[in-house]
Amino acid sequence: MMLNSFRAQPAAHDSPLLAVIGWPAKHSLSPAFQQPALDHVGVAARYVIREIPPEGLAAFAAEARGPNWLGFNVTIPHKLAIMPLLDEIVPAARAIGAVNTVVNRGGRLIGHNTDVTGFGGALRLEAGFDPAGKRVALLGAGGAARGVLKGLVDAGAAHVTIANRTLERAQHLARELGQGRAHAVALDGDELRHVLPTCHLLVNATSVGMHAPAAPADPAALPPHAVVYDVIYTPAETELLRLARARGLPAYNGLSMLVYQGGDAFELFTGRPAPRDLMLRAALAALSRS
Ligand code: NDP
Repeated sequence: MMLNSFRAQPAAHDSPLLAVIGWPAKHSLSPAFQQPALDHVGVAARYVIREIPPEGLAAFAAEARGPNWLGFNVTIPHKLAIMPLLDEIVPAARAIGAVNTVVNRGGRLIGHNTDVTGFGGALRLEAGFDPAGKRVALLGAGGAARGVLKGLVDAGAAHVTIANRTLERAQHLARELGQGRAHAVALDGDELRHVLPTCHLLVNATSVGMHAPAAPADPAALPPHAVVYDVIYTPAETELLRLARARGLPAYNGLSMLVYQGGDAFELFTGRPAPRDLMLRAALAALSRS
């Protein structure tokens, strides 16, 4: 689907399609900030939610090769399972081993990963933090942590200490994506407490704090200049962020990461610059309604 074949907005019922696919996916915020961005730049496409069970993924991939599809975003649990169903995967997505954005180029499905660039963009542009030469503590070793670690290492972080409840998972991640600049410790061990005073940045990429007011680590041990970033965005202020702010540390939630990865996906889908401020405002408005 060539962009110059788009008609003027508003998007009609037979407009080109974009979607976020997941199982479940009905609570995804993506349409709330992607559709206003499409409308704003005058791309007459519709961005919808498609709930796809694992057994329906291959059929969906076949459908999404159709001429009315521009592409789709991929969320849990399909970020790995979609890979063998694609025609091409860009090197950065292959390196991280997950795809969150798929673009339809003339019937060929091309896999990308904008979680990595989205985290880097959020850190630089929202927090004004450049990881080059910095020491980082990264909490977690799941899907979000993979993108964060790759983003940090690619941006030239001096060292990343990965702390995880399951130590082996952190060790595996450090070996796989750490490029010799990461090591693993236990989330509840003494080693993390010793490392924190030397860190310029603490990133929470665990789900601790999402369902109950608990912090995965105590930011009190961080130096006074450190920045805290929590990938969680509901609640808007996790216990970790509350503790960090009480100490006077700059502390940010994961909404900017969500919106920046969406902005990078938007640019791949449309070839137009993403209106990131508008997307962030739309996401904030949608969150305040939910
Ligand atoms: P995964 O299930 O892949 O990983 C979960 C991580 O949290 C693991 O490191 C796990 O440790 C840890 N964890 C879970 N429960 C506990 C606990 N009780 N105590 C200590 N550690 C725990 O999930 P994701 O990586 O996909 O998601 C993690 C968070 O990131 C979620 O809150 C999600 O909403 C958020 N997220 C935000 C994004 C954004 O754009 N802002 C993008 C993607 C995710 P263990 O290995 O020991 O199980």
